[in-house]
Amino acid sequence: MQEKHCSRCGATFGCGRDEASCWCVALPLLPRDKLDPAADCLCPRCLAAAVDDATAAPTETDTDACAADPDSHA
Ligand SMILES: [Zn+2]
Repeated sequence: MQEKHCSRCGATFGCGRDEASCWCVALPLLPRDKLDPAADCLCPRCLAAAVDDATAAPTETDTDACAADPDSHA
């Protein structure tokens, strides 16, 4: 397993890109606009956090939809 350094926190972690599969395939893919092509892979913790941010952080439009005025449901 290839040793890599997280581009976010600098932690050392193993990348299985040159093996049958990498642990990162178990995680959802990041949206393309969340990926920094110049950056290296992220460690498991940071990748999970990045996926979390990308999937949980609502856009402004989504926030508005979620914060719908309860009175509007009456
Ligand atoms: Zn990291």
